Amino acid sequence: MSSQNLDGENLIKPYDALLALYAQKNRDSFGRTYSENTDPERLPYQRDRDRIIHCPAFRRLKGKLQVVSPNKGDHYRTRLTHTIEVTQIARDLARQLQLNEDLCEAIALAHDLGHTPFGHAGEYALNQKMKAFGKHFEHNLQSIKIVTELEKRYPEFPGLNLSYEVIEGLRKHDQGFTRPDGVEVNWPSLESQLVDLCDEMAYLAADLEDAFRGGFLSWKQLEQNQLCQFVIKGFSKNESGFEFQTPELSPSRLSHQLLHKLIHQLSTDSISNIQNLPPLKDGTKEGLDQIKALQTPTKLIAFTPKFEAQFLDLKSFLYKNFYERPEVRSHTEQGKQIISDVFDHLLLHPTDIPENFQSGQSIEDRICNYIAGMTDEFAIRFLA
Ligand code: MG
Repeated sequence: MSSQNLDGENLIKPYDALLALYAQKNRDSFGRTYSENTDPERLPYQRDRDRIIHCPAFRRLKGKLQVVSPNKGDHYRTRLTHTIEVTQIARDLARQLQLNEDLCEAIALAHDLGHTPFGHAGEYALNQKMKAFGKHFEHNLQSIKIVTELEKRYPEFPGLNLSYEVIEGLRKHDQGFTRPDGVEVNWPSLESQLVDLCDEMAYLAADLEDAFRGGFLSWKQLEQNQLCQFVIKGFSKNESGFEFQTPELSPSRLSHQLLHKLIHQLSTDSISNIQNLPPLKDGTKEGLDQIKALQTPTKLIAFTPKFEAQFLDLKSFLYKNFYERPEVRSHTEQGKQIISDVFDHLLLHPTDIPENFQSGQSIEDRICNYIAGMTDEFAIRFLA
């Protein structure tokens, strides 16, 4: 990887000048694995974003449900709409924090590319299958595999040849990185940390809305949760001063208001928390290096401890009242079974694996890559 010949030479200077000390500057990018002709009119991470949006793995996100639930309808979220929501929140907060919006956008758009069909149930089932071969499956690592190996669009290289910082940002749950220059750092960029937090906010708020819309949670139950209670208290007035009474609102307005205010509250809290960044040395790249080298036990972009506790409590509330409900569970079990059956079938009939998944790896890896890329419907139809 090289920091020479970066894209966007006509834009880098003015754009980087807008960013905070601790932001990832375009000029400091480690660049791409394979050298290519540069595009002077697009910044490096803008070009990464364009590559992600135009790849088939991105389009397949529309066929993967966020939560496998018995309720079907046009308004439930898919991985694609979830991805767009994460991207929107991340870009808004990045601009507020003067972080690199393009980098956030690229990481957010690619963050769920490696998700299996049937949400986390599918991931669990595929992981169980791979364990029998002494391996494991994890969707974040699969996202990296997709953008570095499995996407085959360009004649000169495998994958999408994205900038190093985008790939680093997809290693979501990792701590401890060796940069291309050999330097060991503890944390990924703040852009990556921000996307991670926005992912948490977006899926929790959205699952809550979907659970309410689907009739799995009543308004009464929501009012019993501490964080929801706090958010609902602020319901009587909106930003323009329009006053209303909660009982007067239709369920769709109620759920939208809850989602809107919850994300707003979570964003405000995380932004207030980041004001506690350690003092940064004034300079070019030092702020970013300082952030990455910090020995803090937790990420810098996080909720305040009080909100973190309430957030976790809301998560377990959702587990208990939505994900773990028998009718939802029976659907997730069906999803697991389908993944397991497709895996077993392909082991017995490896010629059913398409040509573009056939190159150079073990049979279980080829099956795993193929299944992970399937949409829910494709997996259901596969053995029908
Ligand atoms: Mg996600």
